[in-house]
Amino acid sequence: LPHELVVEGKAVLPRGVEEVQIAIDGGAISEIASGGLQGSRRVSAHGCLIFPGFIDAHVHLRVPGWERKEDFRTGSRAAVHGGVTTVLDMPNTPRPATTTEVVQEKAERAKRDALIDVRFFGGVEGGHMEKIGELAPLVIGFKLFLAQTTGNMMLPEGLLPEALKRISATGRPASIHCEDQGMIDANSKGMPAVPTPEDHCDARSPESEASSVRTALAAVANTRGARANICHVSTAASLAAVAGSKRGAEGIACEATLHHLYFDRSRVDDRLRTNPPLRGGSDREALVRGVAGGVVDFLVTDHAPHLLDEKRAGASGVPGLDNYSNVVSWLMARAGLGPERVAAVCAGNPARFFGLPDRGSLEVGKSADITILDTKAEETVDSGSLMTKCGWSPYEGETFPGRARWVIRRGKVLMDDFHMP
Ligand SMILES: [Zn+2]
Repeated sequence: LPHELVVEGKAVLPRGVEEVQIAIDGGAISEIASGGLQGSRRVSAHGCLIFPGFIDAHVHLRVPGWERKEDFRTGSRAAVHGGVTTVLDMPNTPRPATTTEVVQEKAERAKRDALIDVRFFGGVEGGHMEKIGELAPLVIGFKLFLAQTTGNMMLPEGLLPEALKRISATGRPASIHCEDQGMIDANSKGMPAVPTPEDHCDARSPESEASSVRTALAAVANTRGARANICHVSTAASLAAVAGSKRGAEGIACEATLHHLYFDRSRVDDRLRTNPPLRGGSDREALVRGVAGGVVDFLVTDHAPHLLDEKRAGASGVPGLDNYSNVVSWLMARAGLGPERVAAVCAGNPARFFGLPDRGSLEVGKSADITILDTKAEETVDSGSLMTKCGWSPYEGETFPGRARWVIRRGKVLMDDFHMP
């Protein structure tokens, strides 16, 4: 009997990059062979690179409450467009994901509306510590904000040790947004409520991030069994602190965003206002080296859609899911990122760290989540091609060397030779 689907081409397997055929049945990888497999359907991806489906460990799909910016249907279509088959969604919505009711509502809506797998972080605020235990079975991890940002969900730094203790008791990891609110407040003295984009970069200075990263790492090191991901590291000093902690302790990881890798602050304007902000060229280069060299564990979008009039009024955050594979192709062509490293930071590492053992690598028995990258499909980003509801991209007008060409989720072809139904 033929297999339901056979994908063939150069694949990034755990044992290396090989020309193979991958058979898919019942939503899972059923066989990998050098040739001879028969399929009812065939995807011939010669000249491309076949990766395990990309996992984005940091997105804001804005449900419930900000559906004007994004929802599970549009956000998951943007993910597929960018080659992403699993997203981990953040809790800082108008009704925050700090209760089982809200997380359950999100899960039901995602099941109904999303094309891909959406998993959820639980939020932790000062007054909700006792909810950590009951939220744990429903969430992939917990998000801690040590500074004010979109949604105003915040954990005062003094409560971090208590929160980490409660989280580690559940076995779940924490993702921590590190910026020192005290330093930001001091740096912001005399600035208007919405500072200029340049002043915003100065207020949320490189040191305000690195200092908070060091505080968080010390708290993690002092909590037995704690596992923590330092969100969106953007400075050489933060990376050095993470690298130092990794030598002394298990359970430390960090992520880098597409926009901090691609843009430096010479490009900053209202559209590119983010938290943490864009940094100088040497910090950006250190971050690229961190991805290539192994200090950075996860490549994320921090997909944070806002409408353009909200951006003009000072909202922080940029969308990124539509362009995930564009930036991967750029990292490969311009920063020397090898295919094995891409498979690690885009799939294998987040699957392992966040406890998704059914995916993250191309092996028999794993879910048939597959992203096929055409590294020679040059593309200039145009707002007309975007799937995100917010309708714009920080990469508009930028030309990338390649993009995702086929995207398969549990054996279902969601993007077929560049086309999405
Ligand atoms: Zn975020």
